[in-house]
Order: sequence, then structure tokens, then C-alpha cells
Amino acid sequence: TYRALRVIQDGEERRAEFQTLPLSELPDGEVLIQVSHSSLNYKDGLAVTGAAAILDHLPMTPGIDLAGTVIEDSSGTYAPGDAVILTGWGIGERQDGGYATHARAKANWLVRQPAGTDASWAMSVGTAGFTAMLAVMALEDAGVRPEHGDVLVTGAAGGVGSTSVALLAQAGFTVTASTGRTEEEAYLRELGATKIIPRDELPSLKRPLEKERWGGVVDCVGGATLAGAYASTKAHGALAVCGIASGIELKTTVFPLILRGVSLLGIDSVTCPQPRREAAWKRLARDLPASRLASVTQTRGLSEVTALAPQILAGQVRGRTVIDVNG
Ligand code: NAP
Repeated sequence: TYRALRVIQDGEERRAEFQTLPLSELPDGEVLIQVSHSSLNYKDGLAVTGAAAILDHLPMTPGIDLAGTVIEDSSGTYAPGDAVILTGWGIGERQDGGYATHARAKANWLVRQPAGTDASWAMSVGTAGFTAMLAVMALEDAGVRPEHGDVLVTGAAGGVGSTSVALLAQAGFTVTASTGRTEEEAYLRELGATKIIPRDELPSLKRPLEKERWGGVVDCVGGATLAGAYASTKAHGALAVCGIASGIELKTTVFPLILRGVSLLGIDSVTCPQPRREAAWKRLARDLPASRLASVTQTRGLSEVTALAPQILAGQVRGRTVIDVNG
């Protein structure tokens, strides 16, 4: 059997509760995994609270990230005991995810734990850190370089934001962090931000083209924040568009695209192809070792997830939360 946090529909009521289930209840997939850690992402907050219809069907085990060891793999790719990471691919959304002691998944969804790292590190990175890495790689691939000017990170004190700040600083960029929590200034500076701007002082979209300020942008927020950042991006700069923390709308014009050669780059960590996944995890192991993540990470037990879920939606969770599935 295995133990899982399940979101269930009980008549009119939708709630999360712990259940002990036979392993045969796990979804299809070649690899049976003993999960040791998961993490808490914004999306998990939506799934656990039901604030948005993240879960495709109920009952379901949320948790979009997991790390653990292989128990058996019928594909022959992994040996028992191999340490693996799984993020995205619809776990915790369309099929059971990481808030459980066991999981089953397709072999080609998994990434091997990079040498010298462990499951707790992998989950302090999690989907948020992986997404941040994809965003930084996308900016670099688009030609954004430190000499092109400051890179803006919006929603900087959140999970994707914090790790983006750290990764950009590590790659030599000068980082401006925009946050609604100016009390987190010291924390953001410690991560590597050189300038902090309060969320409401970020230039908004008043004209289709604003003063050119940013060589690149990692946006976790969407909506008017993204529109303002886009209008303020320097010629031939780029924006890695990650999130929707303030809204899903993007009301703007094509002018930055066609008059400044600005690029809007989409980031999707869920379906990211395997070779890029592996490259991103390898670089995360190099650039974000456990020692650098320690100050960004708190570890909490699975039993605390239902209490933490509304907090992450309210923007009250700083950095990354690792979930010990046995806690
Ligand atoms: P998080 O830890 O909750 O961070 C979100 C941050 O956004 C908050 O910490 C806050 O930053 C800011 N924020 C929240 N509400 C806001 C508002 N109303 N207006 C402006 N800013 C607001 O969540 P996360 O896990 O880092 O995820 C961040 C976003 O990226 C989410 O929208 C998530 O869905 C998305 N995401 C996308 C992918 C992908 O593959 N594209 C992957 C992971 C996450 P401050 O406190 O600093 O202001």
C-alpha cells in the first residue's frame, strides 16, 4: 500500500484528505518510484485549495514535482535504487502526483538525479527552479547578454522569481528584482539582485513604447506587469514569459516586436522536451548547489500542505518549500 494526500469530491464538498491505497491504484507507467520528497508550487496551491480547476478529475493526488528512488522499471532504463526526478508532464494535474509515498510514471518522463545532488536538493529546485533555468537559458539563446543591460525579474520573491534572480546573478547579469514584498529586500540582495523595485513602481504600459530599460526580463506575473515590462525592453532584448500570478491577460501592441525587435519567449516547463530537461538539470546542479539554495528553502511535512496551500496563493510563501512526503 501507499499513503497519499488525495483531493476528493464528497457530495457537494471538495476536500483534501490522507488515504492509504493499494499500489494497484497508481496510474500506468513503467517505473514504480519510492517518493521521498515533493515540493509546493503555486499550481499545487491552486490544486489543493481548488482555487482553480487544475485537477483534471477527482479523486487525485496533487504534487507537480517528485524525487525518489526507482523500485522497478519494466522498460529496463532504470535499475532499482536509481535516484530520479520527475517534474511536469501533467503529474499532479492529469494524473496522480508527488504528494504520496509512491508514484508510477513513464520512464521517458524521468531525469536522473545529477551526480553529487540529492532528492531534497532536487525538490528545492523543483518545477519553480527548473522553470527559472529554462527562462535564463531562453534569454541566453535569444542573445541576451550581461552587457545589454539590467535583467528585470518580476514576482522576484516567489519560487520562480527567487531562483531566476540567483541563476541570472550566477551567469553574470545585473538583476533588478521587482517585488510586492519590499521587506524581502535583504533576501533578494543576498540572492544576487542589485536593485529592488516595489511592484507598484514598475513602469506600466502608458504608451506602446516606453523608455528602454531592460536588456531582458523574466516575468512570473503576467497581466499589466508583463505589458509594462515588454514596452520597456531594450531593442533586441527578450522576455521569458513564465507566469500568471497577477493575471492571464496581455493587453499591448506589436510595436516592441516590430520597432525594437523585442522577442516574447514562451516558457513551458510541463512539456519541455527531454534533452533540454537534462541540460537544464545539469546546469542547475552546477549553478545552484544545495549551499546556495539553503537560504531560499524551507522543508515542511506532507501533513502541512493543506495549511500551506492558501498561503502560497496569497503570496506569503517565500522562496521554495520542499515537502518531506513522510513528514
Ligand atoms: P510563487 O512562489 O507564489 O511566486 C509568485 C510571485 O508572484 C509572488 O511571490 C509575488 O512575488 C508575485 N505576485 C503574486 N501575486 C501577485 C499580484 N497580484 N501581482 C503581482 N505580483 C504578484 O509561485 P511560483 O511557483 O514561483 O510561480 C510563479 C508563477 O509562474 C505562477 O503564475 C506559476 O503558475 C507560474 N509557473 C509557470 C511555469 C511554466 O512552466 N511556465 C512553471 C512554474 C510556475 P513578490 O512577493 O515578489 O511580489
